[in-house]
Amino acid sequence: MDKKVSDGPPVAHYDLHIDGRDVPCDRVMDSFNPYTGERWAVVPDGQESDIDAAVAAARRAFDEGPWSKLTATQRGALIRKLGDIVARDAEILARIECNDNGKLYREMLGQWRYIPEYFYYFAGMADKLQGDVVPSDRTNFFIYTRREPVGVVGAITPWNSPGLLLVFKLAPGLAAGCTFVVKPSEHTPVSTLELAKRFKEAGFPDGVFNVVTGQGTLGAALVKHPGIDKVAFTGATATGKRIAASAAQNLTRVSLELGGKSPNIVFADADLDVAANGAIAGIFGATGQTCMAGSRLLVQDSVHDELLERIVARTKEIRLGNPMDEATEMGPVANEPQYHKVMEYIDVAKADGAKLCCGGIGDPDLGGFFVQPTVLSNVTNDMRIAQEEVFGPVLSVIKFSDEEDAIRIANDTRFGLAAAVWTQNIHRGHRVAHRLRAGTVWINAYRVVSFATPFGGFKESGLGRENGVDAIREYTETKSVYVELTGEPRDPFKLG
Ligand code: NAD
Repeated sequence: MDKKVSDGPPVAHYDLHIDGRDVPCDRVMDSFNPYTGERWAVVPDGQESDIDAAVAAARRAFDEGPWSKLTATQRGALIRKLGDIVARDAEILARIECNDNGKLYREMLGQWRYIPEYFYYFAGMADKLQGDVVPSDRTNFFIYTRREPVGVVGAITPWNSPGLLLVFKLAPGLAAGCTFVVKPSEHTPVSTLELAKRFKEAGFPDGVFNVVTGQGTLGAALVKHPGIDKVAFTGATATGKRIAASAAQNLTRVSLELGGKSPNIVFADADLDVAANGAIAGIFGATGQTCMAGSRLLVQDSVHDELLERIVARTKEIRLGNPMDEATEMGPVANEPQYHKVMEYIDVAKADGAKLCCGGIGDPDLGGFFVQPTVLSNVTNDMRIAQEEVFGPVLSVIKFSDEEDAIRIANDTRFGLAAAVWTQNIHRGHRVAHRLRAGTVWINAYRVVSFATPFGGFKESGLGRENGVDAIREYTETKSVYVELTGEPRDPFKLG
């Protein structure tokens, strides 16, 4: 419901979504549009008691509700219906996310138009999830396995692509038969609450999808709740470590999609125009606020100066502005703490000896949370700017001498989310890709993901995989069933 609560533009009000109903909350928090700086929505600031209620609803739905009695084919049909509704409403959902996180409308619209494909892909997988008949080592036993849903999932999401990163969890989890309690980022809670309305419309039983909005402490309460069976988290590595430690108390399963410091490696034999374009896409797409940002550009020394010149020239032309305008290439960073973090990292890099080639300041005309796209050269891999995730439009350019040197520098990081190799030598492309310690490697491309392809991190970039067939395994347990065939009593003191 939209109503005017102040002299500003109309502000949207939302309730929690628990057990198929909108549930008002005593405490609320404001959601601000990072471009206009205006409050545009008021959402619940949920409490632990709300988490208890949401988990209880998801538990009931999983253990005994109508959802638990559906066939896998019927589950698939509901998921497909949800995909159709999201496809119909992609523009509305994209606009909501722009209001919340300031990313470009065309990027968010692209995401919401692609999200139905995740629902369709996993809807089709729901009734193809099968166990095995195990070749038994005993003549008197028939043994088979079942793939059963892991149970109630607590999903916790970040602010950069709230819908897409939730659907990475939701589509395979629903297909497997799980139920959900979702805690979206306090900075971008609205699209998840809007998605809840579409669950209702698609005909999902109550309690399958519950949303509790609030601060990080609420996420912590969800993780330690004994009523959940799995935590599916996307966010910062430091938060992921806290979650893993807390989940370990109940041995709750976890999948973690965390941060990165991904190397984008350009060899001298690359097509430099294409590579320069890929470097720009890798770091300035989404204002650098993607886990897979190509924030370390490794360039072979013989083409370093030429490539740097091209990148700096194009970076200076990047059009900053209103995320809703078709012509805008980069919006603001998503919130004030993030703005200060980015600016501090630029100062740290300069103090450590990096050379500022362009950017490095806020935007004098646009103000707000705009940061001019920034290129730093003379970076060495031991500097903080090369080792720590900035999560903003800051590119660090590092020189390398040969293939061994490139691989050494690329892997010299605690992260391992993604990497790219730019070369026209097909042997080198594959050879280097195989030696990079990262969950995704692109050859002559950057920032491509697909519902059909596993995505996740090596090392401190995460645990488990989202997307593709691998993802649904994260939402199932394997059960082995032994059937005795003779009906004869056996020696009770002998195993088997
Ligand atoms: P964040 O870790 O601060 O917050 C993510 C979510 O966790 C939010 O909903 C937050 O409220 C919640 N949270 C905070 N503290 C918690 C706690 N102790 N227990 C449980 N939940 C808690 O991350 P962010 O700033 O929202 O997002 C940026 C980070 O996300 C970056 O590090 C980025 O690399 C990462 N990210 C990773 C991927 C990926 O797929 N690997 C994708 C996007 C973003």
